Amino acid sequence: MELKGFIDLHSHTNASDGSLTPQELVELAKRIGLDALAITDHETFAGYDEAVQFARAVGLDLVRGIELNTQLDLPGGTRRTLHLLAYFPSSSPSESFSRWVENQQNGRRERNRALVESLRRQGLDISLEEVEARGRSLAGRPHFARILIEKGYARDHQDAFNRFIGEEAPAFVERLAPKTAEAIQVVRLGGGVPVIAHPVRLSISDTNEERRVIRELSDAGLSGLEVIHSDQPPALQRHYLALAEECALLPTGGSDFHGSAKPNVHLGSGVEGNVRVPRELLDRLRELK
Ligand code: AMP
Ligand code: FE
Ligand code: FE
Ligand code: ZN
Repeated sequence: MELKGFIDLHSHTNASDGSLTPQELVELAKRIGLDALAITDHETFAGYDEAVQFARAVGLDLVRGIELNTQLDLPGGTRRTLHLLAYFPSSSPSESFSRWVENQQNGRRERNRALVESLRRQGLDISLEEVEARGRSLAGRPHFARILIEKGYARDHQDAFNRFIGEEAPAFVERLAPKTAEAIQVVRLGGGVPVIAHPVRLSISDTNEERRVIRELSDAGLSGLEVIHSDQPPALQRHYLALAEECALLPTGGSDFHGSAKPNVHLGSGVEGNVRVPRELLDRLRELK
């Protein structure tokens, strides 16, 4: 029970691109001794909804979350994908928020259809049926990557992204996504707490620029910053903690566990133990609401 007193606020089930069922994820969290777990699947609450009964059965504090794709415009006309986490620690999302999420799911289905076409134009043999067989109708690019590996087009996950489906790769298809500031508003109106996921992936190398962008989102209604994350080594976590304090944002943290889809990332502890999220951060998240 080395993780007693610790929590994990970022995890995925097979309702999105994780490999474990909601029940398996809850039981793993319990087994490793976590105090609380947030399920934050991409654009769906289905995994959380299914997990509730199992969490109750084993006595695990389960938090409703979701991870949303958004578009962030940077000065100079560049645009980044920003993953926005939304937590509903003490109340259910509004009806209109749930409908908005369903709309986002349609955007994912459309993107998947277009990405299959794009890969086929490059001469690859892949079908939408194969993709949806793995990821249900909410398949993500990691599911595409697995198929490309199995068919011998790519060596591994990273190779699949580098050569075919990553943002810089030839077959990449952009998915329609709301602007970050707009999504922050939608989350707040829906009763949720909006938090920037893994800020390192914004790859804004100029610290002043980074601070400016985050402060602007804070002014737009953002509540938190994911300081602790398995892609963020300790020095970077200290950097983001300072930034969160400067911008009056709540620090949060999680492993971003995906099961065998990302085998080096461990629930509750991240990569080589770089994630340890104290229980207190969830208490503060709940106080916000
Ligand atoms: P999707 O939401 O379907 O567009 O897929 C996004 C997921 O693909 C992310 O959560 C990552 O797990 C993975 N991903 C995106 N870009 C890359 C990349 N360049 N290299 C490796 N994995 C990536
Ligand atoms: Fe994911
Ligand atoms: Fe993410
Ligand atoms: Zn995630």
